[in-house]
Amino acid sequence: MRLDAFSICYKYDIIPAVDDVSISLGRGEFISVLGPNGSGKTTLLRILAGTLEPCAGKVLLDNRSIRKMSPRSIAQRIAVVPQNGYIPFPFSVLEVVMMGREPHMRRFAGESRHDIDVVFQAMKITGITHLAKRSMFDLSFGERQRVIIARALAQEPGFLLLDEPTSHLDPGYQMGIMDIFKSLSRYENIGILVISHDVNLASQYGDRLVMLNKGKKVADGSPWEILTEEILEEVYKVKAVIKNHPVIDCPQVMLVPGFDEGSAKSNIL
Ligand code: ADP
Repeated sequence: MRLDAFSICYKYDIIPAVDDVSISLGRGEFISVLGPNGSGKTTLLRILAGTLEPCAGKVLLDNRSIRKMSPRSIAQRIAVVPQNGYIPFPFSVLEVVMMGREPHMRRFAGESRHDIDVVFQAMKITGITHLAKRSMFDLSFGERQRVIIARALAQEPGFLLLDEPTSHLDPGYQMGIMDIFKSLSRYENIGILVISHDVNLASQYGDRLVMLNKGKKVADGSPWEILTEEILEEVYKVKAVIKNHPVIDCPQVMLVPGFDEGSAKSNIL
């Protein structure tokens, strides 16, 4: 099972938001997508999920054009965790996670034993079983995020696409959530694509990193191939030093502040 995009383009107006990007995600793979704000990451994710139609190129899910598949059929295979998973009604946690079963349930049929088992397993994996009866309005941001991820898992997807799932979370929550995704890719054979601004976290967890800039894919490869001083300077306009992580073998980025440079000082004075 694969999710493949070939030479896709997307324009909201004249300037392409995604420009001739190809990307492939296999079952069990973990890809982190990086790039500055406005570089096209969210647009790319929506195209991969079939919610935006590219103006050129194609997306294939298991070698079938995603455009020819129904939303229900796509949702049986791909789950998306959007940036803002805000639920505007006071549903309980259990009700929200159960919504993830929708693509698998027959019309007007109640939930089956299997649906209930899958939902409780999703809550267990994300550590929210104790919150099952709690209203979504009475949760912390980190807890809400876990519920939205549990809802995605309840879809039993082959691919999980996540848009900055760890932003606004403390380091403990960040690592906890990324550990869950890594286990899902490794042991449940789910293809994971995570959009992230945290280059170090992306390096620690991603088998592959994809770097976007101004809608184009500028690099695609292992963390060591992508997190170089040259690429970081070109894409983010930052000075960085790269070191090996002392515990696990992966590059870690240390940014060099610019406050000693005359230009920053003269801007203020
Ligand atoms: P990223 O996720 O990397 O921040 P996006 O995919 O959100 O980038 O945006 C890529 C570009 O498309 C940006 O220039 C953004 O302003 C523009 N864009 C995104 N959404 C819309 C929209 N709904 N209408 C018009 N322009 C948009």
